[in-house]
Amino acid sequence: MKFDIHVHTNLSPCSQIPLTDLLAEAPFKGVQGICITDHDTMDVRKKIKEGVQSNGLCVLFGQEYSTQEGDFLLFGPFEQLIPGLSANLLLQYVGNSGGVAIAAHPFRKGRSVSEHLIKKQLCTIVEGVNGRNSQQENEAVLSWQVDYGLKPVGGSDAHTLDEVGSVSTHFTTPITDRADFIRALKRGDFQHVVPQKTLTRQVV
Ligand SMILES: [Zn+2]
Ligand SMILES: [Zn+2]
Repeated sequence: MKFDIHVHTNLSPCSQIPLTDLLAEAPFKGVQGICITDHDTMDVRKKIKEGVQSNGLCVLFGQEYSTQEGDFLLFGPFEQLIPGLSANLLLQYVGNSGGVAIAAHPFRKGRSVSEHLIKKQLCTIVEGVNGRNSQQENEAVLSWQVDYGLKPVGGSDAHTLDEVGSVSTHFTTPITDRADFIRALKRGDFQHVVPQKTLTRQVV
């Protein structure tokens, strides 16, 4: 199953994507699932039910959490998570709560992830391809994959509808809910990243 694991709706101040348009259009973007990862909020849960929608699209809720040492895509029981935690504290909390954290666009200029967090294995999954990164910023992640044996995922980081599905991750086990997704991430049940096209956009 192909998932675009990094999508922002207009609950993120920087995104222009209305939720209803996203749900209607995503099945035509070559993915069977999407993860809604708004900045520091999971308020999408107040609008729709998580899981497989009536059109067959699997919609899962996460968030993109900002810290001074980088941004992290979080999946787990984090609806009430307070913003502003340090990366160290956040990643320990995520681990202890049975959730999973992904280092988002770890080499993006100005929003990079501190290497010591990776070295300490506080975060073991990296976004190897981010649809809004430059090619260089994406390629730089390869060094971490080699040095630390990390498995890469990919996501579009869509802030507009036409970016949705531009990058996706291919999961090798069926995923119908958040628990399936977290399990697959932890086990490494994903094969590769599929960049369907290269997008270079101004990052908001
Ligand atoms: Zn944004
Ligand atoms: Zn993002």
